[in-house]
Amino acid sequence: MERVLITGGAGFLGSHLCDLLLERDHEVVCVDNLRTGSLANLQQAMQNPRFTFLDHDVVEPLPWSGPVDYVLHFASSASPKDYARYPIETLKLGAIGTLHALELAKERSATFMLASTSEVYGDPLVSPQSEDYWGNVNPVGPRSVYDEAKRYAEALTTAFHQTEGVDTRIVRIFNTYGPRMRPNDGRAVPMFVTQALHDEPLTVFGDGSQTRSFCFVTDEVVGLHALLKSDVAGPVNIGNPTELSILELAKKIIELTGSKSQIVLRDLPTDDPKVRLPDIRRARKLLDWKPRIDLEDGLRRTIAWFRDPTSLD
Ligand code: NAD
Ligand code: UDP
Repeated sequence: MERVLITGGAGFLGSHLCDLLLERDHEVVCVDNLRTGSLANLQQAMQNPRFTFLDHDVVEPLPWSGPVDYVLHFASSASPKDYARYPIETLKLGAIGTLHALELAKERSATFMLASTSEVYGDPLVSPQSEDYWGNVNPVGPRSVYDEAKRYAEALTTAFHQTEGVDTRIVRIFNTYGPRMRPNDGRAVPMFVTQALHDEPLTVFGDGSQTRSFCFVTDEVVGLHALLKSDVAGPVNIGNPTELSILELAKKIIELTGSKSQIVLRDLPTDDPKVRLPDIRRARKLLDWKPRIDLEDGLRRTIAWFRDPTSLD
């Protein structure tokens, strides 16, 4: 049986990935300090005897002495609100956390996967963004602690692959949404759904013309697993190439919740990217992966969970 060690496995994305890995007969060791994740996300996983949880800060060396076949590095704040609150820790997670995870993978001859992000493209000057685009990142802006940490982590992963012979994967994850997002984490989908369900105004930043492309979490984790099991070092974009403006997203959420909420416009945060759209040709060709759940279906499932978090997710 193959054993996977995942950092950040108690978070939104990591916990769904833990569930998928357990479903596919892996042993899973989750290392997380519950900074933005929670044990509630792991309720299903905890019932499985093949699952182990370790409460640990991955800025410190990883506390695992047993064998391991895969090391997945997902620990990092991901919401702009969260990484603005923990700027130094975010940089440490991208630098020191990634180093520890890579060193463990090297020692145990394990395959390593880095959860990178579409944020490495910054405020992109080309659209859609393919993996060979180098990006447009402000190194001293408010998003830089996250963007540059992930860019550094990609460079470190590449160096371990090229000079230390570690089998590596780099995935560039585009905006992903679904059950288990925290209502107050500041990201657009949980904010709008929570506001709509309380008939409060939806806070659209700027004029709402900036675009994003949202991938439902079950599609995302299937893509991550396909990449892990491939022999593709990457980077590979995994996301849903259906682009819409944030104003359209807010209107769609009001419609689907049947809410009485209005939309209010608030200041656009500095360096907020104007567009974001994944080119997923590489994932389609090399992994035979594409997303299957459309936005309306995914939002309905997300809204149902936000209405009742005890419902099956
Ligand atoms: P999340 O905040 O829900 O999960 C992050 C997890 O890391 C949490 O469980 C948190 O407790 C843990 N963590 C934070 N600091 C830690 C530390 N010092 N030691 C141990 N654990 C720590 O965020 P998410 O949306 O699930 O994102 C997971 C990963 O995917 C991140 O690396 C993020 O950059 C990447 N990603 C996510 C998205 C998305 O849309 N969700 C997009 C691009 C990239
Ligand atoms: N956004 C918004 N209102 C909110 C939260 C976010 O208009 O209450 C906007 C944000 O400015 C950005 C988009 O929605 O343009 C997506 O934001 P999110 O934080 O979800 O993801 P990211 O900016 O990292 O892509």
